[in-house]
Order: sequence, then C-alpha cells, then structure tokens
Amino acid sequence: MPLIDHVRVSLIVPVFNEAQAIGLFLARIDEVFAREADVSLEMIFVNDGSTDTTLEQLLACQASDSRIRIVDLSRNFGKEAALTAGLEAASGQVVVPIDVDLQDPPEIIVQMIVRWRDGFEVVLGHRVSRKSDTWAKKTSANWFYRLHNKISDQPLPENVGDFRLMDRCVVDALLTLPESRRFMKGLFAWVGFRTTHVDYERSERIAGESKFNGWRLWNFALEGITSFSTDPLKVWTYMGLFVSVISFAFAMFIVLRTLFTGVDVPGYASLMVAVTFLGGLQLIGIGVLGEYLGRTYIESKRRPIFLVRRLYNPKD
Ligand code: UDP
Ligand code: MG
Repeated sequence: MPLIDHVRVSLIVPVFNEAQAIGLFLARIDEVFAREADVSLEMIFVNDGSTDTTLEQLLACQASDSRIRIVDLSRNFGKEAALTAGLEAASGQVVVPIDVDLQDPPEIIVQMIVRWRDGFEVVLGHRVSRKSDTWAKKTSANWFYRLHNKISDQPLPENVGDFRLMDRCVVDALLTLPESRRFMKGLFAWVGFRTTHVDYERSERIAGESKFNGWRLWNFALEGITSFSTDPLKVWTYMGLFVSVISFAFAMFIVLRTLFTGVDVPGYASLMVAVTFLGGLQLIGIGVLGEYLGRTYIESKRRPIFLVRRLYNPKD
C-alpha cells in the first residue's frame, strides 16, 4: 500500500555537452534519494543538441535505471527552451529543474519537499553565497537585478536561479504562457503562487565547463529586461523632452547674449559636441527600438519553442 505522503517528483535536467557530469550526477541522486522512501523520482534529461557522447551516456544509464526519460532536441535551443521541453514532459506532482553539474545540491530538494508539504506551491533555492562565481559574474548579476527590479512590474527574487520546486498547478500555469522567447526566471516569477525559499550554498561545477560566457550572459540580461519591461522604450520621450528644454534654454541664452553683447564668433567645438552627442543619443534610441522590434518580429512568427528528435521512455 502506498504511503499517504507519497510524492512523485520530476527532475528536469537540461544537458548540453555534459558527458562527464552525468555519471556523477546520477550517483549523487542515488545517494540522496536512497533514504527517501516516500519519494518516487522521474528524471527528465533534455538533451539540448549535445555534440559529445551525452546522449549515448544517457541511453546507457537508462538501460539500467527506469527513472530516466530522455527528450532529445533536434539541435541546441538554449537552456530556456530545454527547460520548457522538460516542463512539458514532466508528469510529477512536483517538478524541480536542476543543473547536471551539481552546482544545485540535490540534498536541498528534500528540504524543498518538506516546505511544499507545508502548503507552499513554489519553493525557491536561494543562494546564500556565490563563492563559486567569478567577481565579474557576481557584479554583473547584481547590477542586472537592480536594474531589472527597478523597471519591471514583476521583480525577480535576487540570488535565485532556475533551481526551485514547483507544484503541478504552477507548471500547468507556466505551460499556458504562449510566448516563444522564454526568460524562464521571469516567467517563473510572473506566475506567482504561494512562494517560500530554502537557503543553499552554490557549489563548484563538478566536471566540464560553464556554457555561459560574458556575451551570452549579456544577451540573457537583455532578454530578461525586454521581456518584462517597456521602460527602455518609453525613456526616450523623456530624454527628448529634457534635451529639447535644455536646447530651448540655450537658444534663449544665445538670443539674449546677442542682443546685449553682439554677435560672437560661432563655436565649432560646441557645435561638434552637440551634433555627436545628439547623434549618439538617437542611435541608442534606435538601437533600443531595434531590440524590441526584433523580438516582436521573432515572436510574431509563432515558431515552436523547440523541436524534439525523439523521446526515449524507459522500457517497462
Ligand atoms: N545548458 C543547456 N543548454 C545550453 C546551455 C546550458 O541545456 O545551451 C545546461 C547545462 O548543460 C547545465 C545547465 O544548463 O546543466 C547550466 O549550465 P551551466 O552550468 O553551463 O551554467 P552556469 O552554472 O555556469 O550558469
Ligand atoms: Mg553550472
């Protein structure tokens, strides 16, 4: 007879060239969940277009582990799309996206389940220290959150990644969101629900390398901001107004000065400064417009978020 408290947990594990990490990840999962008799586990590995032996490794593991399901995407669609693919495939009462590199310790999931049993629908993994991150990553993340939370309607919780527990109702809500450009952290926050957090220390990556370099992170930040705020578009109206008022005041000043002291030698330097400054300002404005327009264009095509080559379910 099943225990009353029995819970079915789906882990969503996006993997992109992680052949070295998979074995270590599974060993750790076994270690943690061997003691948890009231948890039945399903692991959905989303192979995000790996070019190494990730898929072969996963298939070999699946042969002896019926908890493993594999969603093989047709190419690399990025972590956000891979997470969405995992959410679609998950069947558990609770769902936890987790990185395969063990930076998110699986032990924490057990604590998250305890909080979920208390009645929370979302349990965030909150990083108490980012020791394992570089200085540049820490500082840029800090700035990003400050800016994002200032201008967007829906603030993002700081020091929280994708690692979190979500109840079935939250997952179903996420799956109703139609957008194809998915900034998951933002969407997770946008859907709301009763939320709490558990603290954890983010560890070092166990094997392989980080897939997010500076340029990718910059674009990720742009995605986040443009997905949840239109303030960067609106700011130009005020910027324009501000510059016009200043130039009007300056014009008045020139008129008055000419009246009282006569015509001055025209200033080439100030002219150049004004031209280049305003030129730069306008180009930035157009660039911002471009960011939004480009995203609207891509969104309007209604392309699927990801394509699946094949699903591998365990042989029962
Ligand atoms: N990942 C993915 N697709 C990508 C990039 C990353 O599925 O295009 C996966 C990766 O395999 C890992 C997780 O996302 O399981 C987090 O990636 P990573 O550890 O490189 O990011 P970091 O921890 O450095 O932010
Ligand atoms: Mg990592």
